[in-house]
Amino acid sequence: MRIGINLIKGEIQTNEPKDLIVGIDLGTTNSLVGYIHPKYGDTRIVQDEAGDNKLVPSIVHFEPDGSVTVGTQARAQLVSDPTRTIYSVKRLMGKSYKDLIDHKDYFGYQIIDNDKDELVKIRVDDRFFTPIELSAMILRQLKQRAEKALNREVLKAVITVPAYFNDSQRQATRDAGKLAGLEVLRIVNEPTAASLAYGIGLQPDEVKTVAVYDLGGGTFDVSILHIENGVFEVLATNGDTFLGGDDFDRLIINQWTTDNKLPLKRFTSDAYKSIQQAMRLNAEEAKIHLSQHPNYISSTEQGQFNLSRQQFEEMIQPLVAKTIGCCKAALEDAKLTTANIDEVVMVGGSTRIPYVKQSVASFFGKAVHDNLNPDEVVALGAAIQADILAGNQKDMLLLDVTPLSVGVETIGELMDVIVPRNSRIPIRAARQYTTQVDGQANMKIAVYQGERDLVKNNRKLGEFDLKGIPSMPAGLPKVEIAFIINADGIMQVRAKELRSGVEQSITVQPQYGLTEEEMGQMLLESIQNAAADMQVRSLQEAINEGSQLLATAQRFISQQTAYLSPTEIADTQTYMNTLNEVLTSQNKDLIHQHIEALNEFTRPFAERVMDKAVAQAMKGKQV
Ligand code: ADP
Ligand code: MG
Repeated sequence: MRIGINLIKGEIQTNEPKDLIVGIDLGTTNSLVGYIHPKYGDTRIVQDEAGDNKLVPSIVHFEPDGSVTVGTQARAQLVSDPTRTIYSVKRLMGKSYKDLIDHKDYFGYQIIDNDKDELVKIRVDDRFFTPIELSAMILRQLKQRAEKALNREVLKAVITVPAYFNDSQRQATRDAGKLAGLEVLRIVNEPTAASLAYGIGLQPDEVKTVAVYDLGGGTFDVSILHIENGVFEVLATNGDTFLGGDDFDRLIINQWTTDNKLPLKRFTSDAYKSIQQAMRLNAEEAKIHLSQHPNYISSTEQGQFNLSRQQFEEMIQPLVAKTIGCCKAALEDAKLTTANIDEVVMVGGSTRIPYVKQSVASFFGKAVHDNLNPDEVVALGAAIQADILAGNQKDMLLLDVTPLSVGVETIGELMDVIVPRNSRIPIRAARQYTTQVDGQANMKIAVYQGERDLVKNNRKLGEFDLKGIPSMPAGLPKVEIAFIINADGIMQVRAKELRSGVEQSITVQPQYGLTEEEMGQMLLESIQNAAADMQVRSLQEAINEGSQLLATAQRFISQQTAYLSPTEIADTQTYMNTLNEVLTSQNKDLIHQHIEALNEFTRPFAERVMDKAVAQAMKGKQV
């Protein structure tokens, strides 16, 4: 036994308090905190003070005065204040505007589209937020809730993410945790956590292959796990990050809109949004009701909103079929058939729908596990994972797989895969390359993620130069490029010229992420002053964005002078001067406003110049 002496209190402590690490399911729709009770050792979900609510809606609401509410209270504002009520932030994590264009109408709030390739921001009145900041607000709320319920400080956590999250999204989640004042010990795949919650494979000699089917509010995942000797290995994952219960709600809304011939187009856009949101809540109510009853009937201001279970099932049939298609694909990836699957685990609130359960059970040809609350299993499993990391459960190891292939760009803009998709991690993989030109001293290494042959269709994760290769004829240098991916899926890329030993490496912080240094700095500040913290980073980002835009605008003016009138040039210059001035204002919102203003002002010229350039190019063409 270890004996601790508390010198301040002058007390002897026979038992050092164990490290309490919580498990957090940061969901698209709902978030929860799980933990292992320090005294009783059972797995629990943190409840609110009233003791009747475990799910925290992943929703943030901003009052006009700028104050913030999170959770149920925020959810209540969806109808009355749609433009200030931010939901489904998880869908925005690590995403650029370009990634979201197809789903833009889904969001009732304003997503900034200035630079289509940059990380999206959300605009609320005259304030701008990143998805990381918004997720951090949810996480901070969960942290406070856990601290109240457990009556102790909570500083460490495991956070789960869908198996399909790429590196950017994982890193963004990690950043959000840090910003909320949490040390994120591990990012865990949700299906991995769910299987742990069911305790499948906890017997040392158990060998099993398990399918985890997770249909939540916003995402769908299926994972094939192989469990042997207490080792959990993900053989394959598949899914759709834009498929979930929200889509069922939308189908119901469409049906009711048609049934009642609602003239939605005639409403002002704010009234339209409110009605949409009201119908959203109503549709969800109907859907949940139909999981227990054959019919739903309700009359509202907008009309008669009725639905039968049969109608509902016909409506969602194509989407459910799509999830089954993903199950097939995952099995193929794992080189298995349904006959190889020993257990099927149901996860996510939408698996409460009887038709979903039946479809999954009939596809796999066996009864599914659904005895735990499907919306709690991920948090419960995360708590178990946290407990393992705290060292309270010995001999457990978790292996994961890379959701997408990663590799480097080679000649002809081709993707050269170094770590194929579904590789087990942690992993180290390497390949040798050489130079193209005699005496070539530098080599550019561009890292991409994705399954397509041309890098332009994949996602760029980062790039760096291997400099100072000693002068040699082309083809002689041996440059080894190695990918090292740790258990969190965070990747380091190293390039080394083997003859000379010249070496260079980067940690592939996904494109939009923060460097470790920045993170460390922010963590400190976030603990001291959370609100000021967030300002530091977003201000810097705004300044960078502003400076970049100024440079682009300057280039544009000098290159396209011929196409622009003197007034246009002078006016653009005025906008640029103002932006330049506000860059030092320390006010990110002001900077964003002037970025928008300059963008807005120059957009028509840019389009015109583009048209002219195209016309010019066409002239020279033989048809
Ligand atoms: P996420 O993982 O996306 O945060 P959850 O696992 O919490 O989501 O699931 C939320 C979804 O489950 C919502 O679309 C919600 O409407 C749906 N849901 C919850 N309970 C039921 C039910 N009884 N019947 C049908 N759908 C349900
Ligand atoms: Mg979930």
